[in-house]
Amino acid sequence: QFTPFLPSANPQAWLGVMGGGQLGRMFAQAAQSMGYQVAVLEPSDDCPAGQVAQRLINAGYSDGQGLDVLAAQCFAVTTEFENVPADSLSRLSQHVFVAPDAHGVSVAQDRIAEKSFFVGCAAKSGVQPAPHKVIASQADIDAIGDELLPGILKTVRMGYDGKGQVRVRSREDVRAAFDSMGQVACLLEKMLPLAYEVSVLTARGADGQSVVYPIAENVHRDGILFTTTVPGPNVSDDCAKKAQAAAQAIVAELGYVGVLCIEFFVLKDGSLVVNEMAPRPHNSGHYTMDACVTSQFAQQVRAMARLPLGDVRQHSPAVMLNILGDVWFSDETDATREPAWDQVLALPGANLHLYGKDDPRRARKMGHLTFVAPTLAEAQQQLNAACAILG
Ligand code: ADP
Ligand code: MG
Repeated sequence: QFTPFLPSANPQAWLGVMGGGQLGRMFAQAAQSMGYQVAVLEPSDDCPAGQVAQRLINAGYSDGQGLDVLAAQCFAVTTEFENVPADSLSRLSQHVFVAPDAHGVSVAQDRIAEKSFFVGCAAKSGVQPAPHKVIASQADIDAIGDELLPGILKTVRMGYDGKGQVRVRSREDVRAAFDSMGQVACLLEKMLPLAYEVSVLTARGADGQSVVYPIAENVHRDGILFTTTVPGPNVSDDCAKKAQAAAQAIVAELGYVGVLCIEFFVLKDGSLVVNEMAPRPHNSGHYTMDACVTSQFAQQVRAMARLPLGDVRQHSPAVMLNILGDVWFSDETDATREPAWDQVLALPGANLHLYGKDDPRRARKMGHLTFVAPTLAEAQQQLNAACAILG
């Protein structure tokens, strides 16, 4: 691992990011507001992060030449995309400070490694993942025990927003689902009786200090995050403390540097189960941009630049709504039209963030809207009003 000779990066230094999506865009905006310059490595030439970065290196995530250009330019490199090849991060780390490192990212991008890691640190974190089994062959399917059914079959790699997942009730269903996914390595997870879902955002500095944000309560629709509410209406103090302590134990165990978000399930009996982690800022942490002293993106900048981590205090109750491409489509026709932003922005406490994507598609994340208010009830009321306007 490369040891940078500089203790921290001064403004004007370049920070690099692997990936050109909206997380890279909001990272770049936070870095720029602190005086840094940003270089993005991304294969597509019109991308949300590329529109705002000072430099776009148009190269594949494994392109050696592109990686070397990024490493040569930057003080530190991060990733906004968890499926960036871990080998690319290793290559970068020979020349530049990389946070998070290849190890953390490789665990988070592989559901088998991730589950094994959670099991391995359960004594320290106090939480277990859902019961599960690797499905890589017909023999694995024959050996499925009844206790894992009904369940969810998930591809080991590249799953996100509920993609690469099939709900299964029987061994026959597993066989069909395994075939439909091209017999790639999968994980069968027992379907758990969820009461609600939460996530915990943490950040850890190169000095080993870590911070943990308030726990967030998440509602998904069709596998995609729909709203995040903080403080969560269902979350008890006890549950919040347990999840936050688990998250800090997990980042310490991983030796992780940077922002990381951990998703948990809260079951109907009140127990807490760890689901998955994202080695980067997370959709459920977008509320921090408008409701916390330090946003998750500014926190990532601090971790990379080796600056002290920022205050995670939340100053206003907040509700975040994802804006999907669907709101550009009217119900009757397939034609698109611009949503009534003027009406949405007339609502008190509204903060609109759009990602610069010019072709709305159904289920595509186009932006998000966060309402902050003196009370959670008021923020929720404005969010309901926004939903009525957006349709
Ligand atoms: P993704 O990478 O797509 O976010 P997740 O593992 O988080 O994959 O699953 C997406 C959603 O599916 C979860 O947020 C949860 O609502 C539901 N889900 C996933 N695993 C389980 C499970 N074992 N039991 C019940 N619901 C689950
Ligand atoms: Mg998830």
